[in-house]
Amino acid sequence: MSARSDRSPVSSNGKSSDYRRQNEDLAARLGVLALSLRVVQAEDLTPSFRRITLAGEELRAMEPFPGQDLMIALDGNGERVRRRRYTIRHFDRWRRQVTLDVALHGDGPGVQWARSVRPGHAVEAVGPRGKIGLDPNASWHLFVGDDAFAPAALAMAEAVPPTRNVVLAIEVDGPGHEQPADVRARVSGPRWIHRGDAAPGNPARLLEAVASLSLPTGRGHAYVGGEHRVVNALRDALEARGLASEDLSVKSYWRLGRQNAANGEPERT
Ligand SMILES: Cc1cc2nc3c(=O)[nH]c(=O)nc-3n(C[C@H](O)[C@H](O)[C@H](O)COP(=O)(O)OP(=O)(O)OC[C@H]3O[C@@H](n4cnc5c(N)ncnc54)[C@H](O)[C@@H]3O)c2cc1C
Repeated sequence: MSARSDRSPVSSNGKSSDYRRQNEDLAARLGVLALSLRVVQAEDLTPSFRRITLAGEELRAMEPFPGQDLMIALDGNGERVRRRRYTIRHFDRWRRQVTLDVALHGDGPGVQWARSVRPGHAVEAVGPRGKIGLDPNASWHLFVGDDAFAPAALAMAEAVPPTRNVVLAIEVDGPGHEQPADVRARVSGPRWIHRGDAAPGNPARLLEAVASLSLPTGRGHAYVGGEHRVVNALRDALEARGLASEDLSVKSYWRLGRQNAANGEPERT
């Protein structure tokens, strides 16, 4: 590989060390790690998902729980570094590798990054981030959301023990967009809901699924992720189905028609 092709757009314009310094400050404030990583693989997982595998010696010290994510520095200057968050789909401490799956919807900076990265590119990240993990006291776990939530839902579902139940309802573009997962627990629910020609960011199909779900008995926990309005509508629907607020973990990942803020979160107002 030539010296040039070994460099990312980030490092070739001298930004990598700049991001590293800023990531170290941010990581110290958050009590997490600043990670200088390199892309080892970037491939299509489905027609609408790019799977990106990153490696770096600093991953040796990372101890993420399923559902946590990395904050990737994409572009920007000074205080205004623009970041996007991607869930850790797989973590291999032995090989010092982490895998992220990115939904290719829209043409925002995160999606452009996912489409453009190639093996050898440098990536500056901060992590692990995120507070939502599996509820150890729940006998069943319900995962509901759109494509952006699929990596978190599947990473958590794969960590549910075989004696427990998983209920899955994840909206994707269509049958060819369903993703492989190695879930050991008993799985029920529609699993994949097909959007077809409808636009993303509409809660209708997921609300329909939640209304008709048959939920296992015992105490369960629901995890909801995706578009801002969609997750709020799903929260209301699950509360209406009798879930207590302490048994609901809801996270807004993106907002229809609006860019996420520079810190990677959807704007709240
Ligand atoms: C904690 C957390 C974890 C996340 N984990 C993942 C993950 O594992 N995989 C993943 O793909 N995303 C994940 N996301 C979402 C991700 O961080 C970005 O929001 C997403 O990639 C879009 O970023 P962008 O810069 O391309 O678009 P933005 O600049 O934020 O938005 C540009 C335009 O694209 C639209 N848009 C954004 N996302 C979608 C979408 N999914 N469908 C349709 N239109 C969209 C926006 O409405 C806007 O009009 C996560 C977000 C959070 C907060």
